[in-house]
Amino acid sequence: MEHYQMYINGEWRGEDLPTIEVMNPATNDFFATVPNGGRVEAAQAVEAANNAYNSWSAYSAYERADLIHKWHDLIKEQLIDLAKTMTMEQGKPLKEAIGEVNYANGFLSWYAEEAKRIYGETIPATQRNKRLFVQKQPVGVVAVITPWNFPAAMITRKVAPALAAGCTVVIKPAEQTPITALKLAKLAEEAGIPKGVINVVTGSAKEIGEVWLQDDRVRKLTFTGSTEVGKLLMQQSAQTVKKLSLELGGHAPFIILEDANIDKAVDGVIAAKYRNAGQTCICANRIYVHESIYQAFIEKLVPKVNELTIGNGLDEGIDIGPLIDQAAVEKVILHIEDAVSNGAKVELGGTRKAGLFIEPTILSNINDHMLCMKDETFGPVAPITTFKTEEEVIKRANNSIFGLAAYVFTENISRGIKVTEALEYGIIGLNDGLPSTPQAPFGGFKQSGIGREGGHHGIEEYLEIKYISLGL
Ligand code: ADP
Repeated sequence: MEHYQMYINGEWRGEDLPTIEVMNPATNDFFATVPNGGRVEAAQAVEAANNAYNSWSAYSAYERADLIHKWHDLIKEQLIDLAKTMTMEQGKPLKEAIGEVNYANGFLSWYAEEAKRIYGETIPATQRNKRLFVQKQPVGVVAVITPWNFPAAMITRKVAPALAAGCTVVIKPAEQTPITALKLAKLAEEAGIPKGVINVVTGSAKEIGEVWLQDDRVRKLTFTGSTEVGKLLMQQSAQTVKKLSLELGGHAPFIILEDANIDKAVDGVIAAKYRNAGQTCICANRIYVHESIYQAFIEKLVPKVNELTIGNGLDEGIDIGPLIDQAAVEKVILHIEDAVSNGAKVELGGTRKAGLFIEPTILSNINDHMLCMKDETFGPVAPITTFKTEEEVIKRANNSIFGLAAYVFTENISRGIKVTEALEYGIIGLNDGLPSTPQAPFGGFKQSGIGREGGHHGIEEYLEIKYISLGL
């Protein structure tokens, strides 16, 4: 059993606190512990981040960029170690964990460079004796609360633009996956990022969240997680009117028009559905196939999904790891049972294996009233339904409280653009099952969230606009 400490004000703390055990979901073994921090540690972290703020925000953009680049380079050196840690605490296959560390690191290199492009403006004045300027300044101390499904990328996607903008951060990683976060913080320390700029507190989400959201010195909350918790944190943030970035739930429709290339659509569904065992907020949740190609599509999809191997992500050649915990397994089984009892046909899988594993599953004969067509399944289950017209499928796809990602497959690109424009979603994969990338904006319409992460858009979330009117 390895014991890790929290990182506050450049010190590794929490030795004397009770601990939380971290489980490997592939084996159900506890392999590490982290301190069970609470209000006291949360407050210490804010104090540290606040003290570090004046100095860090005064660094030149080039100085901040240098340090972020150094952090990036150390992460690259530790790629395999970080990926193995991630697979152990989160369950995703090692090849996906390696992909995630690279993706996470992409945010560091992108935002190290964006730091140098935080431009201001001059605006023509009405009067001859005035000059009008706009400056961008960092927001201040930022609270970062992240989920377990992307233990590295959800942190760097927030922390990289925050640091690049000149903000300091207090981070609470998900209780299931704290070790990747602590290892990233260790590398930030080694890179020379000054004490207090990055703080990581592990422990009680409720206590830590309350302390951070009540504190006026914390100027912004950036959160990725469930819509339910997002709404709660939004309410708590109202007391001190914090700026908010929220990446919440999704329920992605995957639309395959009759003129799609079926092989490409099959590969797209596999990428968008079974990655991370279906546990991403942009995973395809509802698959709509035009009735004229439905049979052909199913006949090609089933054998390909059947080739996916389930097992411990550290083993060679594994495609699908375990789900994160028992509650996740029960939710997925509930969705399968609900669909089957309402007339769905199991084309593949449908059952639970020993431990936290669920077979990759394909369900057909689905209708829009089934649970899996409304709630996020967060598991390796592909419910497939048919449609007759473009108008009908757009209406059904938009009939959701969520608006994060949607997918459209067609070989007619003009038509694809038209359908894309009608979809009320923040991210569209048009003939693409994997749209996420550091240089593009990621975020949702409707109850899927507020703000964007990634791209040049992402850094704006950590900047205040200051307008200066100069009388000559
Ligand atoms: P998921 O369903 O992905 O676990 P959650 O929204 O429950 O999503 O969790 C996302 C993050 O929010 C985690 O770091 C979790 O600890 C944190 N969290 C959950 N409840 C609270 C709360 N009441 N206050 C602050 N953070 C919370």
